Amino acid sequence: MHIPKKGLRALGIAESYAGREHSTLAGVVMRKDLRIDGFCSGRVTVGGMDATDTILEMIRDLDRLDINVVLLSGCVIAWFNVTDPERIAAESGIPVICVTYEESDGLLDDLRHHFPGDEERVQAYLRLGERVPVDLDDHRTIYLRAAGIGYPDAARFCRDFTLEGKIPEPLRVARLCARQVFSLHGAVYKWQTTLPGGKYSYPSRKNRTEPFYIKKELKGKMPTDDKNARWVCLECHYIYDTAKGDPKNGIPARTPWENVPDTWRCPECKILKAKKGVFKRLED
Ligand SMILES: [Zn+2]
Repeated sequence: MHIPKKGLRALGIAESYAGREHSTLAGVVMRKDLRIDGFCSGRVTVGGMDATDTILEMIRDLDRLDINVVLLSGCVIAWFNVTDPERIAAESGIPVICVTYEESDGLLDDLRHHFPGDEERVQAYLRLGERVPVDLDDHRTIYLRAAGIGYPDAARFCRDFTLEGKIPEPLRVARLCARQVFSLHGAVYKWQTTLPGGKYSYPSRKNRTEPFYIKKELKGKMPTDDKNARWVCLECHYIYDTAKGDPKNGIPARTPWENVPDTWRCPECKILKAKKGVFKRLED
């Protein structure tokens, strides 16, 4: 494909869990010289199958003809919401590159475990095919799935947009945006759905604009830790399962979260456990 040099633009889309029903997507339009000149956002159902439609809607809402590539932070987002990069590329006319950062055995077993009998989801996942490892340089490898673009071009795009580390800038900034939106609305959402007696109540206007106050309220209602507790990394959606631990990294099975040392890092994105606001307990 022909790639214009200076005006090359990427739309990076990343997510952050917001409450237990929806995940927030943020999109950032960035030029190759790292100038940002567009934003968009969307919402997907956690555990749903609406990610592809939402992403297409975000692209449509932007209504721009100057985006050369869509970068997605992974093909499977929001708790096994499987995207269809081929369909996004075909319907938007823009090539799609899904970027992940770690080697993985794949999600098929997890997917079958959490969604028994959901053949549509399994097939959607299988259609994604294998990820292709791409070296950014001698030390940094990322894993891509590309649609509407060849892997040499996809790799070049990722190199062009990566300043340091492994994460292309449009995805890094999109993730920051998504997290900000999450911290504002996620806390409100969670609070309103965890009132005693399962009562549905929307916080007053005052509370809606004061997320820190709400977080304090939340604290007393959070369940205490137990042997089956699972914690999700909001950076990459790795799930720490107490029952399994992380034996590869020296955490034996059945190690309660509070006994996992602060120096432990998320095996997927390497973020420190000690980092505030990154790990959230999953509700069953
Ligand atoms: Zn992580």
